[in-house]
Amino acid sequence: MTEDWKYERRRSRLIEELREKGIADERVLAAIGRVQRQLFVEQAFLSQSYHDVALPIGLKQTISQPYTVAYQSETLAPKPGERILEIGTGSGYQAAILCEMGARVYSIERIRPLYEKTSALLRQLGYTANCRFSDGMAGWETMAPFDGIIVTAGALEVPDTLLKQLSLPEGMKPGGRLIIPVGNRKQQTMTYIVRMGENEFDRVEMEACRFVPLLGNTVG
Ligand code: SAM
Repeated sequence: MTEDWKYERRRSRLIEELREKGIADERVLAAIGRVQRQLFVEQAFLSQSYHDVALPIGLKQTISQPYTVAYQSETLAPKPGERILEIGTGSGYQAAILCEMGARVYSIERIRPLYEKTSALLRQLGYTANCRFSDGMAGWETMAPFDGIIVTAGALEVPDTLLKQLSLPEGMKPGGRLIIPVGNRKQQTMTYIVRMGENEFDRVEMEACRFVPLLGNTVG
């Protein structure tokens, strides 16, 4: 384990940088202030742990840029106790942020060595995320419905299966929310969808973004 005191100043500076870039949700910023990002990056990139950049985690995958993690978390806005499904566990950093926000986290990873390494790390750090090795395109049927789904890889289109695993609205309360980057390998649009009925979904297209592709949904 690294000595966290070495990173405290850098983490505070990152939080200020995220505020300047428009992240305003104090719950998200507080979670970023509690998660030790240096524990989720490769040894070779330790010195860049608190730079606002995505970093390689091996196997052609990345830990997302902190701004992106904050932006997706702010948009999804998980309330304590809500059931949130993450597609693309990767380093586990996003899952840790969601846990710190009080969500009950379910996370799926399709690359076995990443699944094994990250589920062990999250457990060791005391995060109670439920991790699974499988294809996230199919969601997690036996654990559905979810109050929120966050996809952390770029999808060619929104998988119907995930829409069907969002909770239905109850009374005045809207149904589950999905945040997903949609587009080709070069560029995607962050897309936010809320379930309004059995087959009714509100869809808002947000900022441009760039993620590694959702496997099994490959593009040219
Ligand atoms: N959320 C991660 C984090 O905090 O480090 C970043 C994820 S990285 C940008 C995208 C991850 O999605 C990779 O680990 C990749 O293996 C995973 N992935 C891609 N396609 C997937 C699929 N169909 N099902 C599950 N995971 C997938």
